[in-house]
Amino acid sequence: MNMAGAKPITIIGGGLAGLTLGIGLRRHGVPVTLQEAGHYPRHRVCGEFISGRGQQSLARLGLRELLDQAGAVSAQTTAFYSASQKSGPHALPSPAICLSRHTLDLVLAKRFRELGGELLEGRRGSPEHSGEGFVRATGRRAQTGANGPQWFGLKIHARNVVLAADLEMHFSPGGYVGLCRINGGEVNICGLFRKRAGENSEGGNGHERLRGHPGSPLQERLAGAKFDEGSLCAVAGLALRPQQAAARAEICVGDAITMIPPVTGNGMSMAFESAEIAVEPLTAWSRGETAWSEAHRKIAKDCDAAFARRLAWARWLQQLVLTPSLQKPLVALAARSEWFRRLAFVCTR
Ligand SMILES: Cc1cc2nc3c(=O)[nH]c(=O)nc-3n(C[C@H](O)[C@H](O)[C@H](O)COP(=O)(O)OP(=O)(O)OC[C@H]3O[C@@H](n4cnc5c(N)ncnc54)[C@H](O)[C@@H]3O)c2cc1C
Repeated sequence: MNMAGAKPITIIGGGLAGLTLGIGLRRHGVPVTLQEAGHYPRHRVCGEFISGRGQQSLARLGLRELLDQAGAVSAQTTAFYSASQKSGPHALPSPAICLSRHTLDLVLAKRFRELGGELLEGRRGSPEHSGEGFVRATGRRAQTGANGPQWFGLKIHARNVVLAADLEMHFSPGGYVGLCRINGGEVNICGLFRKRAGENSEGGNGHERLRGHPGSPLQERLAGAKFDEGSLCAVAGLALRPQQAAARAEICVGDAITMIPPVTGNGMSMAFESAEIAVEPLTAWSRGETAWSEAHRKIAKDCDAAFARRLAWARWLQQLVLTPSLQKPLVALAARSEWFRRLAFVCTR
């Protein structure tokens, strides 16, 4: 039910951040309209590995159980591979949860509607949908210009893949591929790749990049895989340089603030956390207790305080693991040193 006299909020973008914020606001009786360019359910390029503080945000927003009911799988172990070095399985410093985005986004969209939120699918927000009363949750911003490495992501689901750990990370000179068990007995195969000269934006043949080089541990792992072709998707032009929420002219949540390098498996967590951070200031604005500019300032300040340290570590980690000459020694170090594994995990969360 709507709070009497509450001012309405429009969220542009119905991914994880937008839907979670919408749910949080509806729990306080704020009238919310959400405009989503696409339709549910849909596949998204994502490792589908939810790790870090976002799990607590989900629990506080009453959503954790919903994910469990939708078949979320717990991930407790990880293993790392370079072309010639293996490390693990090792226990993860804290468990993660794995769920297909096809399921996750749909479950959140349904919950938002059940709580009385108005969800408009196939509706693209335009530049005039900004300013007081509008929140931007439109996801990653495209990389501007052709300077620096060009990154693209690919993902596909498969059956008949037996993993050595709940999450396997396979590093190669061109990028990395993560494999994890998800709901429905499938394995998600998701990679981030450096674009080669002359390659199209989606990296040519997605299968070829996701299967790994001949003779690699990845190709061996996927030898008997039965791929779900309908789940194959790609995303290009990823901007991985960290940005501050305070530098944004609008109230933003999730990747619309900044995208953390995907190798951390923390982007979804940041979407949930930033949405939770925004609920209280936006509810106060809706009730007429605070000005929009004040809500904007508080949300940006709290997001930057929550994310600055992990963004800095993530940038450093991504540079290290994607430097071809360092991949073998890093996997060897991960095999020997629990301290190193814990440092890389904890500092990016
Ligand atoms: C290769 C790769 C692997 C990843 N692996 C992981 C992982 O394992 N774990 C993890 O935590 N994170 C991972 N991430 C990051 C994670 O996917 C994102 O951080 C997360 O999806 C951000 O959620 P969001 O809601 O901000 O954006 P999105 O989920 O991208 O949602 C944005 C929504 O806005 C909509 N939209 C866009 N423009 C408009 C518009 N103008 N009007 C209306 N709607 C619009 C889009 O259709 C979309 O539904 C990965 C990312 C990549 C690229």
